[in-house]
Amino acid sequence: MIQKGVTMKKRIASILMTLCMVVSLFSGMSAAFADGSAQLIVSTQTAKVGDEVTLSVSTANNPGVAVLTLGINYDEAKLELVGFENSGFTGWTVKTSAVWVGDSDSTYNGEILKLKFKVLDGASGKAEVSLRCGNGDAYNYNEEPISFEIVSGGVIIEQGHTHSYTEKVTAPTCTEEGYTTHICSCGDSYIDCYTDALDHKFGEWKYIKAPTCTEGGSNIRTCERCGATEMGDLSSLGHVIIHHDAKAATCTENGWAAYDTCSRCDYSTYKEIPATGHHHNTVVTEPTCTEKGYTTHTCACGDSYIDDYRDAYGHDLIYIADIDAKCTESGSEPYEYCDRCDYTTWTADKEVPALGHDYINGICSRCGEADPDYKFAPDAPELKITTSSGKPKVYWNEVDGAVKYWLYRSTDGVNFKYYDSTTSTNYTNRSTTIGTTYYYKVKAIDANDARSEFSVVKSILCKPAAPTLSINRSNGKPKLSWKAVSGAKKYWVYRSTDGVNFKYWDSTTKTTYTNKGAASGTKYYYRV
Ligand SMILES: [Zn+2]
Ligand SMILES: [Zn+2]
Ligand SMILES: [Zn+2]
Ligand SMILES: [Zn+2]
Ligand SMILES: [Zn+2]
Ligand SMILES: [Zn+2]
Ligand SMILES: [Zn+2]
Repeated sequence: MIQKGVTMKKRIASILMTLCMVVSLFSGMSAAFADGSAQLIVSTQTAKVGDEVTLSVSTANNPGVAVLTLGINYDEAKLELVGFENSGFTGWTVKTSAVWVGDSDSTYNGEILKLKFKVLDGASGKAEVSLRCGNGDAYNYNEEPISFEIVSGGVIIEQGHTHSYTEKVTAPTCTEEGYTTHICSCGDSYIDCYTDALDHKFGEWKYIKAPTCTEGGSNIRTCERCGATEMGDLSSLGHVIIHHDAKAATCTENGWAAYDTCSRCDYSTYKEIPATGHHHNTVVTEPTCTEKGYTTHTCACGDSYIDDYRDAYGHDLIYIADIDAKCTESGSEPYEYCDRCDYTTWTADKEVPALGHDYINGICSRCGEADPDYKFAPDAPELKITTSSGKPKVYWNEVDGAVKYWLYRSTDGVNFKYYDSTTSTNYTNRSTTIGTTYYYKVKAIDANDARSEFSVVKSILCKPAAPTLSINRSNGKPKLSWKAVSGAKKYWVYRSTDGVNFKYWDSTTKTTYTNKGAASGTKYYYRV
């Protein structure tokens, strides 16, 4: 037995003397004292030479401990301490002794530490394992010393024999190495002839969640051999960008800034630019006489509308009274015109042409203006008519300036014809027929060939000339005699007794007549 001490660098206010009693047990797991004193118990195991064996250290009736320093006592000719494992207490430091420091009092009861030993060649019999826990090796949190009773354990070493192994080949799997196990009837065994794991024989990846432009996905594949699955993460795909040019907004249609979309998803940076609406420029059209006024609103885009109608003014009429035409100035019928616009009721036919001068004998009878072209004509002759030897004889006064006179004749008083010319102031028309009425008029002609107006018309019925009567006696009876009258066929004799009241007396074709029935003493008057 070799004992190894452990010294704690720890200040201790007061030290109580505690006796750690060492009890050796060679069979059974542990022994608990009836009085319930605190114990540290080491287990006992059976093993063969070459085996590795694990012994447990347990607490019982633990009053609460914060620091433990345990010396480990064992036969180094039979056992080798090859390792340890934390158990109920964690944080052990194990070298030649085992040290545990908790951060509060632990009252845990049960396995607190595992110690691993290898059974050395040549070992046999029993190999005891015990602990040392002396004064200053166990405290509670208040640094009060605690006394543990140590219950020893150990390894019971079985006698060896010549192993006879049988081989068992374990084939490799996808994930596990293959190997050969050699087993002896005594239970000893070892493994060798390792072969590499096969690795999985995966099938095709299948989506669990397909990746999108913006979100990753995942997929899975399954081993055809073992059914193991492998999951994979798939990163997002990113957008497939399509660029769209900007379009300016118009008055009535929305536009947009340049933007991108994705051909795979509905990603879009589209941002609408609202229609600008019309911006109307206003032009006021004033009313006219006949047209309404209004306001025109026109947008540069061509849109327009009209509103704010105002009534037409109506014409501002001015009445122009009628103007009489004069000789040289035209006149007009009444009309109206508008003082504002060019409206007028005037028409060309409302103009009354200038009348022109109304010259009478070279002087305008209307305005008195002299006719510059007038040739002063002679006055019309003052015509008279008589007979001369039974022939019509016209005569007239001598007209100033006249050099000759023209004579016109008619037999109906309507249709006159030029008949003759004379420089005299009378004219006897010898070429006439008895029983016909002749009409005459005359005009005077001066040296400038200016002609007077016609004279008045004079007419006369052509009759036979009166006989030139002479009277004497024949046998006491009155005897009338006359010269034959040219053209006369017979002669009518009229008689009166008072020279006033004549009565038809007799008719004869001769140029003498003797009144044989005349009474003596009576004075008779005769006409033929
Ligand atoms: Zn064997
Ligand atoms: Zn597999
Ligand atoms: Zn996308
Ligand atoms: Zn517009
Ligand atoms: Zn407007
Ligand atoms: Zn007008
Ligand atoms: Zn005139």
